[in-house]
Amino acid sequence: MVKRIKGWNKRKISYTGRLILVKSVLATLHNYWAQIFVLPAGVMDRIQALCRNFLWEGSDSYSKAPLVSWKIVCSSTLAGGLGIIDSRIWNVAAVGKLVWWIASKKDLLWIKWIDKVYLKGRDWFEYQPNPNSSWAWRQVCMVKEKMAAGYSNGKWQVNDGHYNIADGYNWLRQDHTPNVAWYNIVWSRLNTPKHMFNAWLIRHGRLLTLDRLYKMGITSQRTCFLCGYQDETHDHLFSTCNFTCHCYARFQNWLGLPSTGVVLAERMLKIRSCSGFMRKLLCSLVVALHYHVWHARNLCRVEQKVLHPKAIIQAVREDGRMAIIKYNYCQMSLSDREWCRVKGLM
Ligand SMILES: [Zn+2]
Repeated sequence: MVKRIKGWNKRKISYTGRLILVKSVLATLHNYWAQIFVLPAGVMDRIQALCRNFLWEGSDSYSKAPLVSWKIVCSSTLAGGLGIIDSRIWNVAAVGKLVWWIASKKDLLWIKWIDKVYLKGRDWFEYQPNPNSSWAWRQVCMVKEKMAAGYSNGKWQVNDGHYNIADGYNWLRQDHTPNVAWYNIVWSRLNTPKHMFNAWLIRHGRLLTLDRLYKMGITSQRTCFLCGYQDETHDHLFSTCNFTCHCYARFQNWLGLPSTGVVLAERMLKIRSCSGFMRKLLCSLVVALHYHVWHARNLCRVEQKVLHPKAIIQAVREDGRMAIIKYNYCQMSLSDREWCRVKGLM
């Protein structure tokens, strides 16, 4: 895992790119072993730390507090997380397959050997391992105890009695977190990937705004860079900041939306006069707008350069154009195409 991380150029990989690499590469490298053994806690801690460090810092080490807790990161995207697999739970669920094979007496030489040497005809769910048994076997028995409640008369209760690792994983997680209302707004396929991650951080209130940096003792400044008037908080930056309000006014004027002050993606989804596609497109433009406001704030902080709201809207328009190209023109109605053409999106 460390070799892979060192081989990736962290400067060129955005949060979203890192998220994809964590999900598709880092969190899966140990899967082969995790299906055979319950891996030691120290190894699992290290795997989790490497995934976390790469996600937040792009390297194998990271000493700061992560922007969002690992528990939230590992919850499903529907429940407000990033959907990264929790390696420890997955390891138990994967070894749970061996438990199921023994319970269902799968026709395998290994199962016959287990029956002959360990179980000796005894009921699997009543069986207790000998303290002198191997560590690996005692771990399999420990997983059996964890998963015993999922069995009824020796049959796995979920998925018509057939065990698979995904079902076992979900059953072990017992995640009853309600779905978030903003799932479709943040993870819309019309959104640019880097905007999605930014929108996700905004929804959790985890951008590093000055009020948070002040509380951490990192800065003594609290006044907003963009307006120089009020303290910088999430609420201020995306609702009451003068700079943002100017951007919102231009945004509403450009798209012919009612002047409601704050621009909220949720409001876009309720515009009845628009088609479903248009509502999604407007939502994605709002997500892009918030991204560019945050980008303008960072530019102001690092380079003391203040962008004009006109430049923000121009950037949002470009993002809208890219979203439409990605979406495929053929799926758009004639009236939607005409509207996009008039608004400079096509
Ligand atoms: Zn401000």
